[in-house]
Amino acid sequence: MSNEDKFDVIIVGAGPAGSACAYTLAKAGKNVLVIERGDTPGCKNVTGGRLYTYALEMLEQGLFEEAALERRVTHEEIMIISGDRAVTIDFNQPGFNPDSGAPMSFTVLRAVFDEWLAAKAEEMGAIVACGIKVDQLIEQNGKIVGVIAGEDEMYADIVIAADGVNSFMAQQAGLIQDIVAKTVGVGVKEVIELPAKTIEERFNLKAGEGAARMILGCTEGIHGGGFLYTNKDSISLGCVFMPGEAAQHKKSVHEIFQDLKLHPAILPLIDGGETVEYSAHLVSEAGYRGIHPRLYREGFLMIGDAAGFVINTGYSIRGIDLAIVSGIAAARAVIAHGDNLAAVGPNYMQELIHLKLIPTMKAADGYFDILETPWIYDKLPNLANDVFNNLFTVNGEVPQRMKDTVMGAIKANGLSLWQLLKLGIKGVKSL
Ligand SMILES: Cc1cc2nc3c(=O)[nH]c(=O)nc-3n(C[C@H](O)[C@H](O)[C@H](O)COP(=O)(O)OP(=O)(O)OC[C@H]3O[C@@H](n4cnc5c(N)ncnc54)[C@H](O)[C@@H]3O)c2cc1C
Repeated sequence: MSNEDKFDVIIVGAGPAGSACAYTLAKAGKNVLVIERGDTPGCKNVTGGRLYTYALEMLEQGLFEEAALERRVTHEEIMIISGDRAVTIDFNQPGFNPDSGAPMSFTVLRAVFDEWLAAKAEEMGAIVACGIKVDQLIEQNGKIVGVIAGEDEMYADIVIAADGVNSFMAQQAGLIQDIVAKTVGVGVKEVIELPAKTIEERFNLKAGEGAARMILGCTEGIHGGGFLYTNKDSISLGCVFMPGEAAQHKKSVHEIFQDLKLHPAILPLIDGGETVEYSAHLVSEAGYRGIHPRLYREGFLMIGDAAGFVINTGYSIRGIDLAIVSGIAAARAVIAHGDNLAAVGPNYMQELIHLKLIPTMKAADGYFDILETPWIYDKLPNLANDVFNNLFTVNGEVPQRMKDTVMGAIKANGLSLWQLLKLGIKGVKSL
C-alpha cells in the first residue's frame, strides 16, 4: 500500500451525517474519502421530511440560503383521524428562528438535498465515491484501520460509520448487536407531484411557505402515525409503523397506507397528483434510550442514525439535524486529536454534549413513555373526534352539558377519566 492509498478519514455513507462530517474535515484540510453505496447521494434515503436549519447554520453560517430546500414551514399541523372524521389543529407561525432571524425549518426531498450536501463536501476537497458498497472493516492490532469494498482495500487513520439506522459497520466493529424490532419503526412514503399553485391553495399557503402535518389515528391502532409535508411542487405523504405490531395486524402496511390516502380529509389534498416516488425505510424510535452505549473504539466512530440519534415526539421527528450535528462533532474531535487516536472517541462524546445533541435527546426522553401507551393510537383519536362531533352537533334536541358529553365519550371509548389523568401525570412527570 502506498501513502496515496491512505486517507486521514474514510466515511461510510453520504447521508447528512457523512456529508456534514466530510465537509467539516475537508474544510480543515483533512484528506477525506466518503464511500456511498447509492448511485447518487440520497437516492436510497428516506425522510418525512423536514430539516431544522440551525444544523446547517452550525456547519456554515448562511448555508441554508443556498441549500437545496423546498418550502419554509409556516404551518405546523396536527391531524387526529378516526373513521371518516378528522380534527386538525393548524398552528400558523412566521417560521423564523427568534434569535438569528433565519428560517427555522424547511421541507426537504432527500434525493435532492443529500446530493447537494455531498457536492458541498466535494467543493471543500472531500472525495465522494458513489455506487460502492463497503463490505467490511479492516482491523489490525485491535484498531480499525480501513475498509474493504469488493476487491478494494482502503486505509485511513479513522473510519467513521455514517451508514444509517441499521449500521453494519458498527455491528462489525462489535459496538452494536443486530437490530431489535421494538426499537425501530418502518416508514413508508409516497411523493405525489402537484402544481405549486394547487398546493398553496389547498394548504392556505403563500408562495414559498410550507406545511408540516403529523397524523394520529391513521394506523389502525398500531403504534405509529402518519406525516404529510408540502414540497415546492409535490407532497410527501407517509406512515410509520412498529413492525412487530404491524406483522400481527390483519391489514398490510400498504393497505393501511392506501386507506390514509383515501381518507376524506386527505384525498382532496392529493387529488389529481401523480405518485413519482415510493420508498420505505427504518427509523429509530427509542430516542435517548436508543443511543448505543459505546459510539467509538480506536480508529472508529459512529454518527447520525448509526449512533441512534433520532428524536420522535409524536408531533415532530428529528434525525437529519442530529445527523449533521453529530457529523460536525466527530469532525471536530478528529481535527483536534487526529494525532492521538485514543483521545478522539472521548473528545467526540464531549463534543456531542458541547453541541447540545446529547442534552437535547435527554430532554426529549419522556416522549418515549407516552408514545408507548397503546390506546393513544385508536381510542384517543376516536375520543377526540367524538367530543368534537358532540360539540358541533345541533339537531333541535336539548344538548348535553359539556361535562356529560366528555364523560360519555370517554366511557363510550372504553376509557376512564383515571386513565386519561394517569397519561397526563405521566406526561408531566416524564416531560
Ligand atoms: C419515514 C421517515 C420519516 C422521517 N422524517 C424525518 C423528518 O421529517 N425530519 C428529520 O429530521 N428526520 C426524519 N427522519 C429521520 C432521518 O431520515 C434520519 O435520521 C437521517 O436520514 C439520518 O441521516 P444519516 O446520514 O445518519 O443516515 P442515512 O440518511 O440513512 O444515510 C446513510 C447512508 O449510508 C449509505 N450506506 C449504508 N450502508 C452503506 C455501505 N455499506 N456502504 C456504503 N454506503 C452505505 C446509505 O446509502 C445512505 O446514503 C425520518 C426517517 C424516516 C424513515
